[in-house]
Amino acid sequence: MKLTVLGYWGGYPGAGEATSGYLLQSEGFNLLVDCGSGVLSQLQKYIKPEELDAVVISHYHADHVADIGVLQYSRLIQSFLQEGIKTLPIYGHNEDEAGLLSLTHLQHTKGIAYDPSGELKVGPFTITFQLTKHAAVCYAMRITDGKDTIVYTADTALIPELVPFSHNADLLIAECNFYKGMDGSGPGHMTSEDCGKLAHQSEARQLLLTHLPHFGQLSQLVTEAKEVYNNKVELASSGWTWGA
Ligand SMILES: [Zn+2]
Ligand SMILES: [Zn+2]
Repeated sequence: MKLTVLGYWGGYPGAGEATSGYLLQSEGFNLLVDCGSGVLSQLQKYIKPEELDAVVISHYHADHVADIGVLQYSRLIQSFLQEGIKTLPIYGHNEDEAGLLSLTHLQHTKGIAYDPSGELKVGPFTITFQLTKHAAVCYAMRITDGKDTIVYTADTALIPELVPFSHNADLLIAECNFYKGMDGSGPGHMTSEDCGKLAHQSEARQLLLTHLPHFGQLSQLVTEAKEVYNNKVELASSGWTWGA
């Protein structure tokens, strides 16, 4: 499985960059996880929007779904320009009716509710879900292609359920909206120390910090996570890749 970070900023994108968006590729299948602001532009550095096979959305905050509308327009426009553009399935939870409805656009994209208590099979990927603690209903995802396993916390405060959910992940992609010593649990976000604790307790093999804040020295987040986690810790950045 190959992962490419398309966007990693919390809340709004830095100049020329994007908020949450991750391209996962396996066996020729292209899966987009979250579709934040700037993601459609970043995506085109790697594949064409019409080459996407499926999208999965963690929750309906703008920094995770802002580019759904322009993704839909890209499929609409390409359907006039070329034959064979298929309906793109976009999976989201159904605990926000307007959110789920927004994932469907004519015959170009189809919003499909996932069952968070079950397994979602998309191409070579199997995805399971964990409800997070966040200002909106949001699901973390554990994604495997049978060989590699990635856990993406999406947006959340640190909750005990995430430890077994993340157990033994080859890569833990953890949201890190705050620095050690701050309290992000109100709006439902983690600190660098929370991310390190989660990685340590779940015995994840590698930690990627993402959903990064627009203040402070970002390298400090890595230092703080490493105080409680002994394996590899890196900061997400545009085009950061993992796997093959
Ligand atoms: Zn959010
Ligand atoms: Zn967010």
